[in-house]
Amino acid sequence: MRKKFLQKSTKTMITFGLVAMLTASSLAGCSKKNQGDASTAPTPTPTEGSVSDGTITYTPGTYSAKVTGMHEMTVTVTVSENAITDIQIEHTETPGIGEPAVQSIPAEIMETQGLGVDVVSGATLTSNAIIEGVVENLKQAGLSDADINTLLAIKKVVEKEEDQELSADVVVIGAGGAGMAAAVTAKQAGKSVIVIEKTSKMGGNTILSGGALNAVDEGSETAIANNDSTALHYEQTFNGGDQEGDPVLVQTLIENAWDGVEWLKSLGMEFHEGTFTVTGGMWPRAHKPVEPEGTGFFKTYQNFLDNNTGISMVYNTTAEELIMEDNVITGVICTGKTGNKVVVKANNGVILATGGFGQNVEMRQEANEILNKWPSLDESIPSTNTSGITGDGILMAEKIGANLVQMGNIQLLPLGDPETGSLSGNIEHAVESRIFVNLDGNRFVNEAGRRDEMTLGLFDQKDTTMYIVMDSDTYPEGKELNNFGESIADLVASGRALKADTLEELAGLMGVPAENLVSTVKEYNRYCLGGDLEGQSDVFGRALFTDTDKVNNGINNPPYYAAVRVPTVHHTMGGVQINENTEVLDKDGKVIPGLYAAGEVTGGIHGSNRLGGNALTDTVVFGRIAGTNAANFQK
Ligand code: ADP
Repeated sequence: MRKKFLQKSTKTMITFGLVAMLTASSLAGCSKKNQGDASTAPTPTPTEGSVSDGTITYTPGTYSAKVTGMHEMTVTVTVSENAITDIQIEHTETPGIGEPAVQSIPAEIMETQGLGVDVVSGATLTSNAIIEGVVENLKQAGLSDADINTLLAIKKVVEKEEDQELSADVVVIGAGGAGMAAAVTAKQAGKSVIVIEKTSKMGGNTILSGGALNAVDEGSETAIANNDSTALHYEQTFNGGDQEGDPVLVQTLIENAWDGVEWLKSLGMEFHEGTFTVTGGMWPRAHKPVEPEGTGFFKTYQNFLDNNTGISMVYNTTAEELIMEDNVITGVICTGKTGNKVVVKANNGVILATGGFGQNVEMRQEANEILNKWPSLDESIPSTNTSGITGDGILMAEKIGANLVQMGNIQLLPLGDPETGSLSGNIEHAVESRIFVNLDGNRFVNEAGRRDEMTLGLFDQKDTTMYIVMDSDTYPEGKELNNFGESIADLVASGRALKADTLEELAGLMGVPAENLVSTVKEYNRYCLGGDLEGQSDVFGRALFTDTDKVNNGINNPPYYAAVRVPTVHHTMGGVQINENTEVLDKDGKVIPGLYAAGEVTGGIHGSNRLGGNALTDTVVFGRIAGTNAANFQK
């Protein structure tokens, strides 16, 4: 099995073919305005060797089109007779997630006067949506499909840069949650750090998460009020993964979790008061950052970078191969943005923090064959992951003799956007206040249970599709934000969420039998009010219901909301084996000197099923341990 992983290309990933993208348009509307205005605008100077030869003629004017990236946006393009003179994007893309594409894609189209721009990795949806919007506008300006194809072939000519050799005390590979926690910690230990990142920005999958971070402040008022303890956190994590996690690593995760929160706070990160139950988290112990999604972590790390010298971020550079000298890992060979070779050497340790392999379809299908837990993990199953999460670090580590563990343990969530698989558009705030309903209008699973059980339950439903259903307790004004920074009003306006004054009306919008939805909610409300439960779980085994201190207990406060969701690949729990010092182990269980690993690239912590909210804890806890130990490593 492991041999087979080695043979796979690290480049396998889902990309959205432009042609497919252009035919499967998600345009919400387009219009032409101010025709003729643009003819007076200056014509940009084309980049040498990359630009149309003047055979393309536009109908001068300003055009606009609505498209959907992570969120809905309006792309407005102004053209003169022979050039694109302006591109404006009206958007609500999240800073650090979709926004980098909003900055760079229009600029490159303007510069090259072509459409052959590379998507901004980590912002694929937004990039594709912008290009799609520009194409639609250009069609409005009179371009034929053949003209569009000509423009699609025009790419910026990039000259290959010189090969480079860089060095620092500590080298971190991957600028996601674990990598940045490690980099900051190594710097705090007094070391110089280079972070190699294959995309143009920090964040990885971590920035796309809902931001929930599990940690128990043992003995605090919150923990006491929730009957919570580190012992319960340990038990739920270990048992929630069917006792497959390494007990020492689970213990390390749990006992350092709160310290991780305090460390983040010491760096300026802000959290909301109290805790909540994240889907699959099993208990109200998740801390919610003030900033949406995972952006608060990276705002914090960027702030540290802005105020401290000694951490160099090397973006658009892909680590390809670890350097081993006399059995010690001393650096990494990378490919730079222009295809040049970049060799990065470490005086102390090297840290792998490249994340999992959720976007490597071939690799995840092969891994799924180990346990056959999921009916399929082919390309028809989307992923919450950003496109660069292709298992590179796992493959690199295996090549130099690292042991891989529990590769078959792959987590899916029942919460994916049907178009993209992303978590955006998810209207739930906390487990207690929502139910899952199938296309017959019935509940089918314990919505407060394990992630794998919920998703396997969903695979058994019609069209593997469900709705999240909730009431206005979470959205009293009707314009509050979900956990992904999207307003419920915008989600309703764009059709990504449904809203109705009665359950019957909501059922009509959902296309499910009204009588079923009404009786489903009625029965659920009975449990919320105590029903015949006497503190025990309902027929599906659910024990967490609407907070008892809420005025409106259950789903009974109109208007009602629903949002459609499908299974999506979320987290790969298998990977490189480490010990509690984050040292990477070989197949004989011996430490590979100089190599550390943290985050989703590692395996054997979460077992068969990861608790919701434990991944961000993992990045902070093991990232910090890796940063400290790599800083102290002596060859
Ligand atoms: P974790 O949660 O474990 O920190 P993330 O998914 O947040 O993982 O981050 C992993 C980061 O590693 C991403 O930013 C991704 O682009 C980056 N990465 C993946 N493969 C490589 C590679 N070969 N070279 C450099 N960076 C990589």
